Amino acid sequence: MSRNPAESAQEASAQQLLADAASRAQRYLADLPQRAVAPSAEAIARLAQLDVPLPEREQDAAQVLARLDDIISPATMAMAGPRFFGFVIGGALPVTVASNWLATAWDQNTGLYASTPGTSHIEDTPLRWLKEALYLPRDAAGAFVTGATVANLTALAAARHRVLAQAGWSVEADGLFGAPPITVIVGEEVHPTVLKALGVLGLGRNRVVRVPVDDQGRMRADAVPRIAGPTILVLQAGNVNTGAFDPVTQILPAAKAAGAWVHIDGAFGLWARATPKRALLAQGVEGADSWATDAHKWLNVPYDSGVAFVRDADALRAAMAITAEYLPTGGPLRNPSDYTPELSRRARGVDVWAALATLGRAGVAQMIDRCCRHATRFAEGLSAAGFEVLNDVVLNQVLVSFGTPERTRQVISALQQEGTCWCGNTVWQGRTAMRISVCSWKTNEEDVEQSLAAIIRVARG
Ligand SMILES: *Cc1c(COP(=O)(O)O)cnc(C)c1O
Repeated sequence: MSRNPAESAQEASAQQLLADAASRAQRYLADLPQRAVAPSAEAIARLAQLDVPLPEREQDAAQVLARLDDIISPATMAMAGPRFFGFVIGGALPVTVASNWLATAWDQNTGLYASTPGTSHIEDTPLRWLKEALYLPRDAAGAFVTGATVANLTALAAARHRVLAQAGWSVEADGLFGAPPITVIVGEEVHPTVLKALGVLGLGRNRVVRVPVDDQGRMRADAVPRIAGPTILVLQAGNVNTGAFDPVTQILPAAKAAGAWVHIDGAFGLWARATPKRALLAQGVEGADSWATDAHKWLNVPYDSGVAFVRDADALRAAMAITAEYLPTGGPLRNPSDYTPELSRRARGVDVWAALATLGRAGVAQMIDRCCRHATRFAEGLSAAGFEVLNDVVLNQVLVSFGTPERTRQVISALQQEGTCWCGNTVWQGRTAMRISVCSWKTNEEDVEQSLAAIIRVARG
């Protein structure tokens, strides 16, 4: 409650500021379907207006917000729109944008239960729901982190703890110098963020054993080396180019029997398990020891939002928990920070809760199925137009060649300029390709037909 006229005025202007932000955001979102997906060269050139010295004096907050909207909004990529098919990027569901605003207003530093009971408590529910939706073990510990990169890091830190503890070594206390060596096995098509996580953890980006893959990027089960001693095996659910899955049922049981820790990088592919139509693709991953996935990709919550699950909760806590006199411990439920690399952290669980509470199991399944159907339509439409689809379209990823590498790059660049939709490029097993990734709740049939027509028009032009 305000105590004097000056404070009342401040409060009124804070309210106005938030209302202004909301109407600017609404206008931005409403414009997205009409505008070119990529920002114009002119909008990017105007970013130079930001290059000014630090203001000496206080500025009017409403004008600061207006400047942000004027300069940045036009220079954004329309990732929140219905026809952005670059990388593997969803658009935030409306309820999650709203929940995110509310959680920002709460401004809860969600590391410790005692100081942030509401936003700490709520994490348990979406973690449980995610395990139910993805059919992961009910007793696995979970952690909301920034994305799959840090989810991989978090899970692999728990793996490092456990395999070394089994060899009589405490890595958290004594570090890696003098520790028994750990064998890390990955597929030739491992995502680079797994290698980054391994580098950060002192396990090395280059000292991994790389298993050859097939023409879809799947680890070859017959080429997995014999496992002995402390070992971490990383399998992939959802190749970032093809959408393909490592053959988990052919590899995991023997690896587990030999004592390896099996980790699944399922940044987007794990979501195949949320729909009966695609669940078989990721069959057997429930037998692993840890899993990394993203909520900001296929669950369509705002950035940034990833999730790690670890079957052995003690291993995760041993890798992550800290104590200090000034930090309250205990409370009726878990301290989120006992399971994450961060102490101070935003309440990421809120947006995941809002998405799952709104969609339910059926809504999630429909969203995943819809994206996969759109991907299949892209592949069919482009094949029918005479272009070569390079991958088996099993999920939401499509790779297309338009002829020579040069020609393919030209088509991609012309399409990005044309503006109807946005697709990126890649090199898949030596072939230059356009990469189409359908990941947004917003994309409908009309968007797909409109985008297909634009791609074909540009490629024939
Ligand atoms: C996207 C992706 C990652 C990295 O996820 P971020 O959320 O960008 O950190 C890791 N692995 C795979 C397979 C991915 O697709």
